[in-house]
Amino acid sequence: MEYYSTNHSTRNVSLCEAVVKGLAADRGLFMPERIPSLPNAFFKNIGNLSLQEISYAVANTLFGEDMDSSELKNIVYDTLNFEIPLVHVNGDIYSLELFHGPTAAFKDVGARFMARLLGYFTRNDKSKGEVNVLVATSGDTGSAVANGFLGVEGVRVFVLYPEGKGSQIQDAQFTTLGQNITAIEVNGTFDDCQRLVKSAFLDEELNAKMKLSSANSINVARFLPQMFYYFYAYAQLQQRNQTDKDIVVAVPSGNFGNITAALIGKRMGLPIKRFIAANNRNDIFYQYLLTGKYEPKPSIATIANAMDVGDPSNFARVLDLYGHSHKRICQEISGCTYTDEQISETLARTYKEQGYLLDPHGAVAYRALMEQLKPGEAGVFAETAHPAKFKSTVESIIGDTVAVPERLEKFMQGEKQTVNMPSGFTWVK
Ligand SMILES: *Cc1c(COP(=O)(O)O)cnc(C)c1O
Repeated sequence: MEYYSTNHSTRNVSLCEAVVKGLAADRGLFMPERIPSLPNAFFKNIGNLSLQEISYAVANTLFGEDMDSSELKNIVYDTLNFEIPLVHVNGDIYSLELFHGPTAAFKDVGARFMARLLGYFTRNDKSKGEVNVLVATSGDTGSAVANGFLGVEGVRVFVLYPEGKGSQIQDAQFTTLGQNITAIEVNGTFDDCQRLVKSAFLDEELNAKMKLSSANSINVARFLPQMFYYFYAYAQLQQRNQTDKDIVVAVPSGNFGNITAALIGKRMGLPIKRFIAANNRNDIFYQYLLTGKYEPKPSIATIANAMDVGDPSNFARVLDLYGHSHKRICQEISGCTYTDEQISETLARTYKEQGYLLDPHGAVAYRALMEQLKPGEAGVFAETAHPAKFKSTVESIIGDTVAVPERLEKFMQGEKQTVNMPSGFTWVK
């Protein structure tokens, strides 16, 4: 299968090229040229399949033509070797806990999948040489990518992150690793980091000297595997005899990679009725739904900081999926925007009344379902991070202690190794 650019002014490329390049030559984002469907029989029986079986069936439908199938199977099985439970929270609302991976963030799956795919393609094409992966992060991307790529041969990773914005646990997950991972602390915001990465991809001199690739959700190998979650959520709803209801999926959204993967999953046949793109105060998409105008803004710092994005990079993909029709987008996707106070209140109340501990990101999506779910619908929200990743914030909200899982605790014991620099591109170059 070929991949086209959302800017439509460059040729189509192979999966290999899309993964290695990250961004198209005309600065557009790669999209699969057609979206294949899975057969109805697959969905009838999906409740009997495991996470790995479902994910492989979906991956094979998307990527099967372009690589060795036993290799693809290994990659899927290794990437998805942890639990993604669907937990009942309240009424018809379920939490899809995406945080049981190595760094306790949902980005683990995309990052690990991409690392393995990039490793596969560079191994099979020696002319590619060493690949340098650049990634801008406000916290979770950096840790998931750095850990996903740690020790992968032929790949070096540079993580650019804003000084003093992430939580201590988040930062420790990519600043303490060493080996092929370099952490760069930028004196600026997340948007500055994202701009620096984009500038690097456009710099001819740099690209002549080094092979550069991205690991932000602009890379197809990172964002597409996130659709596995939603197929598995559907399977678990089927096991609980909930699939006679209309299914609504709410996704806490920043760069819109996760929700875009879910939207493509629906095009592949997954029976989801509608989606909610849940926002914190960075409400550019919510405003777009209201007005039809897309107006990027500088990001605002919130307690759900992985969603502090003022210009969601996957918006171009959402537009393309719906033929740039605001009307069609509004028919399938609704939105919401919540302040830190509303997020805190939701988190505290759900802990007290339901005994369920949300993290600030999941809380945004949960509240959206509480407000927007209609009779006859069942709602699933993506719980995208373990609450312990935002320990001090969450503890001050609930007035109780939050236990840190052992695998997160380990990162805190490592030694911080980081390069500090101003936000000018010449420094990074
Ligand atoms: C990255 C992230 C998000 C936002 O995901 P996008 O794919 O960028 O929309 C939400 N919650 C957490 C915890 C994250 O790390």
